[in-house]
Amino acid sequence: MPDASLSSKYPEALDAAIGFFAHLPGIGKRTAERLGLALMSWKPDDVAAFAETLAELRQKVVSCPVCGNFAPAGQPCSICSSPARRHDIICVVEHVTQILTIEKSASFDGLYHVLGGKLSPLNGIGPEDLNIAKLEQRLQEHSVSELVIATTPDVEGEATAHYLAGLFQPRGILVSRIAAGVPVGADLSYADAATLASAISHRRKM
Ligand SMILES: [Zn+2]
Repeated sequence: MPDASLSSKYPEALDAAIGFFAHLPGIGKRTAERLGLALMSWKPDDVAAFAETLAELRQKVVSCPVCGNFAPAGQPCSICSSPARRHDIICVVEHVTQILTIEKSASFDGLYHVLGGKLSPLNGIGPEDLNIAKLEQRLQEHSVSELVIATTPDVEGEATAHYLAGLFQPRGILVSRIAAGVPVGADLSYADAATLASAISHRRKM
């Protein structure tokens, strides 16, 4: 994964570290170099602690077995396990990062469900490729009165919303769609909190 050819004026291990940094989003070659050099000024113990944190990250943080949010290994996420949340309303998002954005907007006090994408026939992504079976299971096992569909407001996100409405509305569940206000085609992960709060509070029945 890291591109060791990014720089060659450093010892190999430092080059490798710089290569990893450069693989992160928003980090260009020069920034990666600065980050790598910054580590060289840390105490060795601190660098080792950083490395250990990274080494354990994917074992310690996993997908919530219920909703798909980030969760500590072996447990449901903090939202699914919170008695302070409404458990009769589920907001359906494409990606886990959208949960974090909606949480920042403090506009929703229910639970979530991460689909893992959106319907996209052109890219060969059908309902069976999304986390829909698990959603059906949740709705069978728990009393849920409303699904809020917060997929991206582009063609594929709308198609996904309509598919879910067609699936769940006949079962007596209110299916609502977040309001316009989120720019068309915008990635919800980057929508600002006020816009999202407004989109959720003005959601409409599908
Ligand atoms: Zn969860």
